[in-house]
Amino acid sequence: MKIVVLKFGGTSVGSTDRIKKVSKIIISYVQKKYKVIVVSSAMSGVTNDLVKKSKKISNEFVSDEYDVLVSAGEQMSCSLIAGRLNHLGYKSRSWLGWQIPILTEGKHSSSRIQKIYKKNIIKYLKLGGIPIVAGFQGINSENRITTVGRGGTDASAIMLARFFRAEKCIIYTDVDGVYTSDPNTIKKAKKIKVISYEEMLEMASSGAKVMQPHSIQDARLNRINIEVKSSFKKSLGTLITKRKNIFSSKIIRGISFTKNDAKVTLIGVKDKPGIAAAIFEPLYKNSINVDMVVQNISPNGKETDLTFTIKSENLNKTQKLLKKSKKISFRKIIVDSKVSKVSIIGVGMITTPGVTYRMFNALAKKNINIIVISTSEIKISVLVNRKNLNKAIIALHKEFNLEK
Ligand code: ADP
Ligand code: ASP
Ligand code: MG
Repeated sequence: MKIVVLKFGGTSVGSTDRIKKVSKIIISYVQKKYKVIVVSSAMSGVTNDLVKKSKKISNEFVSDEYDVLVSAGEQMSCSLIAGRLNHLGYKSRSWLGWQIPILTEGKHSSSRIQKIYKKNIIKYLKLGGIPIVAGFQGINSENRITTVGRGGTDASAIMLARFFRAEKCIIYTDVDGVYTSDPNTIKKAKKIKVISYEEMLEMASSGAKVMQPHSIQDARLNRINIEVKSSFKKSLGTLITKRKNIFSSKIIRGISFTKNDAKVTLIGVKDKPGIAAAIFEPLYKNSINVDMVVQNISPNGKETDLTFTIKSENLNKTQKLLKKSKKISFRKIIVDSKVSKVSIIGVGMITTPGVTYRMFNALAKKNINIIVISTSEIKISVLVNRKNLNKAIIALHKEFNLEK
């Protein structure tokens, strides 16, 4: 069976007119003799609205019910797509996570897909039906509804492609591919024809919202090629694939950024073994992710300063937890919620010396101060004042010849 998985994101199904357009795209694959499995997000804005409602009910909305609530939008978009296909004379029905079922493991709101049962959908495909699967959701071993993280319909698509051994997995979105930087912010950003899983994973996890990071991990582990395309206009998209398939002389593939970071500095922390662990323990226990960390060298061997970044939405909670913790003491806490992280990503930096120098020099020439630095094998990230963000991206884009 020649199967294709087509994923549609929120904007692609954002109105009834858009759903009519998307239905035409689906039919074009049926006409090419594909067995089509569709997976859809909620209409744009719907999930955010449900999240807001949960906050109005309770700031600590119970996690199992939260997933029931925020996964509700996908039911609506899937039935609308199936309804339109039926209207046009095609056999189609919606499938919610529990009906397939899609089994997940892990915590609510950040579960991961572990298994997808195939039997019913295969039977339906053989009968000529077009299944419209609700993205983002599954069930756990206790039969409760789970969700797989914001933007998680990407992961649903990859895992459907894996379990059904699809020939193609196409992510339809509102941009026509992965760009060197967010094309909605950086006008000179250029479309990338082919990008490796490793680079896409680093870009996605450092702010390029176009793909959900977990979905790229799943694709890499299972060697699923992904095409990212626009549901708005016809054009060649981007292929996400293994490194071996890529021939390119670019050192840096792309630049990503985040706008929702906050920096916390603890002044006068005791300089002794175990102190960093004691600081981060309450954050870990409250699922607060710590990103960049620097600890200054202690001038007197007794006290030191520690700086780290978190998402700004976690800032208040982090301050409370640190002040409450009995295991740590510090003289002062300084916070700054107007910082942004800029990252340059490329496998080429492994073999090319001088990339760090070029990055720092390009920023220095624009008078941009670097607050914190962190690196991985294929990524260098710097924290800058948010007012310098655009200037920094544009300078780096130019420095690494991404405009061409
Ligand atoms: P969907 O609803 O289809 O899942 P998303 O909003 O999650 O779409 O992702 C698409 C958005 O990702 C684009 O509108 C774009 O603004 C943003 N984006 C950020 N970085 C990049 C990048 N490097 N390339 C393309 N799009 C990017
Ligand atoms: N609707 C969900 C969200 O907004 C899942 C998705 O869009 O992929 O996060
Ligand atoms: Mg998305």
